[in-house]
Amino acid sequence: MSDRFPILEPEYLVLQARARDLADRCLPHADRADESDSVDAEVLALLKDSGLAAVQVPAKYGGEFESPDSLAVTVVREQLAAASSHVDSLFAMQGIGSYAIAVGGTDEIREQWLPRVARMEAIAALALTEPEVGSDLKSLSTTIAEDGHDVIIRGTKSFITNGGDADYYCVLGKEDVNGRSGYSLVLVPANTSGVRTSRPYQIMAPHVLGDIEFDNVRVPNTHRLGEPGRGFALVLATLATFRVSVAGAALGTAQAALDDALAHTTTRKQFDSPLARLGPIPQMLAMSWTEIEMARAFTYQVARAAASDPRGSLDLSSMAKIGATEVTGRVVDRSVQMMGRFGLVRGSRIERLYRAARPMRVYEGATEVLLDSLSKQLIKEHSR
Ligand SMILES: Cc1cc2nc3c(=O)[nH]c(=O)nc-3n(C[C@H](O)[C@H](O)[C@H](O)COP(=O)(O)OP(=O)(O)OC[C@H]3O[C@@H](n4cnc5c(N)ncnc54)[C@H](O)[C@@H]3O)c2cc1C
Repeated sequence: MSDRFPILEPEYLVLQARARDLADRCLPHADRADESDSVDAEVLALLKDSGLAAVQVPAKYGGEFESPDSLAVTVVREQLAAASSHVDSLFAMQGIGSYAIAVGGTDEIREQWLPRVARMEAIAALALTEPEVGSDLKSLSTTIAEDGHDVIIRGTKSFITNGGDADYYCVLGKEDVNGRSGYSLVLVPANTSGVRTSRPYQIMAPHVLGDIEFDNVRVPNTHRLGEPGRGFALVLATLATFRVSVAGAALGTAQAALDDALAHTTTRKQFDSPLARLGPIPQMLAMSWTEIEMARAFTYQVARAAASDPRGSLDLSSMAKIGATEVTGRVVDRSVQMMGRFGLVRGSRIERLYRAARPMRVYEGATEVLLDSLSKQLIKEHSR
């Protein structure tokens, strides 16, 4: 990262240093943790010890900022992802899986869960995706229905980060409210009767992922997050706050890949010359540096805007996510190419980064889905 272009205020630089310290501690465990499909106890302990999850929770409930701060989350994820996708994911989910509680939970529910989320004593999850429904979330089939003082949840969620290891799930389902079909969000503790988890998938960049079946699950009405029928608004608010942080994680991954390519090509010689001076390799290095710096400057600016006005910055957050994750795809690919056969060795950092970069262009809004909604907005603004 260039020091000649200071784009972070002192408080964020302090946070960045804390995150780098945690990343350094996690690095020796990354080989193991990043290949695991369940939460790694040592990485979890290091994250807990760092206190960094408190960045994700409002100060009133044991957090560090008045409300979760998009720039802080982005800066931390950038450092963590460079070391281990596992610690990055664990950290990220504490915000993504708790924001709806902070915004829409009752005081009692907030008091019960948020301080534990901040201390990493409760592992969070947000359950939207279903076996048949991904990008087109409005077609989901999980149902939520009121029954006296309780709500009943029926359905199956799929590809849920922390699934099987989370302490609770924020579940989005369809609900009829006063004769109209809407979407509601409910907090379901993982130990509630009728909650069953399985792990049918292992992906190319291993991730703690589970499918969760909600078989007539009953929780008190007080576990609702937000008003009945207003669940989608909370999901959107969550994405508006955290989507830009995926760009941070992507850029950390890209920077680490460039660092590895640089170390390799400046030391390895072929044709009596360091690789870094041969053919297109200098251009490849410089292009990666350029793309990373440009994406980083934009990402920080957007994260800063999202910290003060998340909903008003959602389009910019989508752009930052698209830009940074696509840049990262190119950078890791170039780095592997520059490193030749050494870039292909299983268990090397560059090989891990190459795999870790790929899912980022799919989750929290696939590139094409985000482009689709941006294009609609662009055309609408043009036609005004
Ligand atoms: C590592 C990982 C972690 C995840 N964690 C969670 C989690 O914690 N909670 C959760 O709820 N979900 C989670 N998911 C699921 C994720 O949100 C979905 O994968 C994502 O929403 C895309 O849905 P899909 O995979 O079903 O793809 P589909 O919706 O089937 O789309 C496939 C492809 O079609 C294209 N496409 C789809 N729709 C459009 C459109 N309108 N315009 C243009 N192109 C389009 C895109 O290229 C897209 O990649 C996770 C996924 C991964 C990979």
